[in-house]
Amino acid sequence: MPVQKTQAIVIRTFPLQEFHKIITFYTLDFGKVKTVAYGVKSPKSRLGGSLELLNHGTLLFNHRENRELQHLTDFNLIDGFDAVRTDFTRTTYGCYFAELVDAVASEGVANPEVFTLLRGTYQFLGHANDVPLLARIFEIKLLDCVGYGPELSQCAHCSLLVTAAPSFEKGAPPSHPVLAFSVRHGGLLCTDCQHRDAAAFSMAPGSCELLKMLRKSEVSGLNRIHASTRNHHELKLALSNFIQYHTERNLKSLRFIESVLEL
Ligand SMILES: [Zn+2]
Repeated sequence: MPVQKTQAIVIRTFPLQEFHKIITFYTLDFGKVKTVAYGVKSPKSRLGGSLELLNHGTLLFNHRENRELQHLTDFNLIDGFDAVRTDFTRTTYGCYFAELVDAVASEGVANPEVFTLLRGTYQFLGHANDVPLLARIFEIKLLDCVGYGPELSQCAHCSLLVTAAPSFEKGAPPSHPVLAFSVRHGGLLCTDCQHRDAAAFSMAPGSCELLKMLRKSEVSGLNRIHASTRNHHELKLALSNFIQYHTERNLKSLRFIESVLEL
């Protein structure tokens, strides 16, 4: 039963009987790791306070192949992201990022890019001017990291280069350009293929360009990027539906953000 040591972020906690907890980490070297932390809810436990959701630290666990639950032996806190915890909105978004990583990651499949993205996003979350835009950059980068990233340059059906087409929306100016983003096909559709998905979302070329920019930008450079109300609305709609379709999950924290924070 070799002891493994790795950097880890707490992405989910669940009580187990009176004194124990099941704690899921996203780790640098092992991807998602689900552990049992025995006795951590006991007042005598020195680990209790360090195993809060979102905390980043050094994890030690007894690694057993083909076991769903590993045995946590130690966790030393590196960063508790205090600037996030003092703000309800930022904490709620932090929980959403953790839930999203839990939804897209498979246990035991290492992906250091995902770990680095999550840690960098939490480090920046306390300082972001536009927290919903931080959520969009996190979503597009996470989708790219795990290979689900939407196609934004070529048609997702026929691979033709996509350009903004005139809109035929009722009431829209005849020359107003608009793109079609198809969740089902995995990205933009060209003019010839737009009929293949009646549920495709309209997206202004500016929103699409912004999404491409977010995909390439560093999370820490986000405060230099501006998004309009329309950009926010279109990217939120397209990405949240895309994520729900590809993860087949109804993310509780995203529904909470929609119902409580976006009034
Ligand atoms: Zn096409």
